[in-house]
Amino acid sequence: MDKCSFCGRSKKDVNILIAGVSGHICDSCIEQAHQIILEEFKQKDSFDISSIKLLKPIEIKAFLDLYVIGQDEAKKVLSVAVYNHYKRLAQKDTKDDVEIEKSNIIMVGETGTGKTLLARTIARMLHVPFTIVDATVLTEAGYVGEDIETILTRLLQVADYDVTSAEKGIVFIDEIDKIARKSDNPSITRDVSGEGVQQGLLKLLEGSIVNVPPQGGRKHPDQKMIPVNTKDILFIAGGAFDGIEQKIGQRMNTKMVGYSASKDKDAIDRENLLQYIGPQDLKAFGLIPEIIGRLPILTYLEALDRDTLRNILTEPKNSIIKQYEKLFRMDGVELTFEKKVLEFIVDKALEFKLGARGLRSICEAIMVDAMFEIPSTKETSLHITVNYAKKKMSNTNMKKLRVA
Ligand code: ADP
Repeated sequence: MDKCSFCGRSKKDVNILIAGVSGHICDSCIEQAHQIILEEFKQKDSFDISSIKLLKPIEIKAFLDLYVIGQDEAKKVLSVAVYNHYKRLAQKDTKDDVEIEKSNIIMVGETGTGKTLLARTIARMLHVPFTIVDATVLTEAGYVGEDIETILTRLLQVADYDVTSAEKGIVFIDEIDKIARKSDNPSITRDVSGEGVQQGLLKLLEGSIVNVPPQGGRKHPDQKMIPVNTKDILFIAGGAFDGIEQKIGQRMNTKMVGYSASKDKDAIDRENLLQYIGPQDLKAFGLIPEIIGRLPILTYLEALDRDTLRNILTEPKNSIIKQYEKLFRMDGVELTFEKKVLEFIVDKALEFKLGARGLRSICEAIMVDAMFEIPSTKETSLHITVNYAKKKMSNTNMKKLRVA
């Protein structure tokens, strides 16, 4: 009589008995074995801090250089902050009392200068879960909008609900300036709940156990909350802080009055005040001191000039132009550009004040017809001339680009 070589049950006691070369296995043993395999994999997959290859700050910056053009100051500050953050995680069980504090980061710089790209690149380097949240959608509990905890829902989701892994992830909070307190900052028209959101964020930033709705939102009132410890999550906040240069200028002027040392005054680079940004300017803008204290690493991004924009088109590892070349190559077409085309794209981005964000939409406007037609032709090469680019651009609705 055939029986399962694993549990010994005979054919009549099981649903299915599968024959092997020199034995049999029953369906319930297969099920069990399958479960064991799943468990094994889960354990192997689950996050292990030692699996992060901790690069030295100079190496971190070199990695960022592959993807982000310019912004050397921000890259340096970020490299050190990230290095220290993961060093802090790695050396948990030290005997001395020196506890390295968390180094959450805040980046100030015009929109489209690379804040998100920097944060994303760091996460890519570390292979840790990464999510971007927009501070403007957050509201205090009880108001219309998303609860603060949903920030962590997203992180859990990208970590496939592996809590250990999410707890070592990176969260990029975009548009942090939009939740600035109104009273200190008349130019912001948002209602006072901005301060409430800041208070709510504090809890996450400082490191605490937060009950996270796994599905997010308030649509699933019955869901079981998942406790997530934010102690080791790295928060990177970014914002344009429109008009903060004025605050910096004011502060620096007041400081100078006492000295009457005109030499010092001359030394200030008035065109680029952002480089002097300090925590007091964030406070003047309307961030509450507690939030500023929880984002101790402050850095700035420079506005992108012509040369930088030109480099962004072609230099990064996955630059826009390289992407188009690849897309065409996949159709067996060699794509080339007249040099002047790249200058033309940059001119347009500057003209419409679109920054780097606009480069892609301008390229898209120039390339869309070719991308539509070429795959159905026998062409093996395509050279984009500046005249061609100008013609395609003149057919484009500029208004569409402006909001891109
Ligand atoms: P921000 O977060 O500052 O508003 P992003 O990082 O989202 O801006 O940048 C918008 C787009 O512009 C990105 O897709 C990126 O490709 C490009 N970009 C911006 N700044 C840079 C830069 N310094 N180097 C390379 N690409 C950049």
